[in-house]
Amino acid sequence: MNRQFPLLTVSLPKLRSNASEITRRCRERGISVTGIIKGCTGIPEVAQAFLDGGCTDLGSSRLEQIVRCREAGVPGPYTLVRLPGMSELPDVVRWCDTSLHSELATLDALEQECVRQNKTHRVIIMADLGDLREGFWDKDEMVDVCVHVEKDLSHVELAGIGVNLGCVGSIQPTPEKMNDLLALARRVEEAIGRKLEIISGGATSSYTMVHWGTMPEGINHLRIGENILLGKDLQLEWHIEDMNYLAMDTFTLTAEVIEVKTKPSYPQGVFCMDAFGRKPTYTDYGIRRRALLVLGRADVADVEMLIPREKGITVWGASSDHCIVDVTDCDRDIQVGDTVDFSLAYCNLVYISARPDVRVVCVEE
Ligand SMILES: *Cc1c(COP(=O)(O)O)cnc(C)c1O
Repeated sequence: MNRQFPLLTVSLPKLRSNASEITRRCRERGISVTGIIKGCTGIPEVAQAFLDGGCTDLGSSRLEQIVRCREAGVPGPYTLVRLPGMSELPDVVRWCDTSLHSELATLDALEQECVRQNKTHRVIIMADLGDLREGFWDKDEMVDVCVHVEKDLSHVELAGIGVNLGCVGSIQPTPEKMNDLLALARRVEEAIGRKLEIISGGATSSYTMVHWGTMPEGINHLRIGENILLGKDLQLEWHIEDMNYLAMDTFTLTAEVIEVKTKPSYPQGVFCMDAFGRKPTYTDYGIRRRALLVLGRADVADVEMLIPREKGITVWGASSDHCIVDVTDCDRDIQVGDTVDFSLAYCNLVYISARPDVRVVCVEE
């Protein structure tokens, strides 16, 4: 097999630049950045670009990606940012330096595994401040567990505490939420009789407070993925206009054209359902010039979120292995065998970078 397309081109200089723009602004406020590589399935060159751009370490939700980067020679250190399953603990101790936690039983099992491997491991204990994914809801219980790690577990080191916001519950990270986390950190510090090394204020959505200069002093760590990888969520979804120091064209997806025809834009016949069992509604735009691409929902999930690089090209629809773009208003006379370029949304990148049949090329431009 000599597959050329779909092709995912990765601009390493743009990624380094995004990382350094973000880490410099964080450093000026006493914040270190763990670069989160799960959005691109842990491509090792990307991980290295994160380190080159000033990330102090790397993180992923998936062990396989951490193993992939370590085996490729990217030094880390590495943090597992999804709570480990009990069954994962041998690999967590073996491959990761730090992991996030919210369960006493897992922490005790982690201690046992560390003893077995004769290693130490660092943990960040997570608080849930309203986003309702991982973390302690009962803060008294959280303080007790921190004390337990500190006093009773000799191989598990309490590195700090953290919070995740703006994910499942869509809760905005605000200075108030950060002050809640800081108050919790002070409680833990009082209970263990020493300062915590890490007070981790969140992910890309928490970087907004660094950008605006509203991050409360004392938050000293963020875990950032999307804003380095794509720089899109805050610029396009949050409409933050003065964040244009971040490149949004870091990744380019190139797909090949296999059919170009002029057809109606409104399907003809009796409606049943589409390839995925849904009943979409269609708008009649009249007769249009359309190109069929070697690309589908199996590659990028939400094709509607792809951003065509060329003016006059719009995404019309897709099934698992085909994508149709409207090229009527495009300046170029697109032919079979030509290619079409897209910028990606986070969800597109998560899927496409995980495909074994997509060619990934990292470039120095
Ligand atoms: C994915 C993840 C991050 C990074 O999120 P981005 O929005 O990509 O910056 C940070 N922390 C945790 C716990 C995560 O799961």
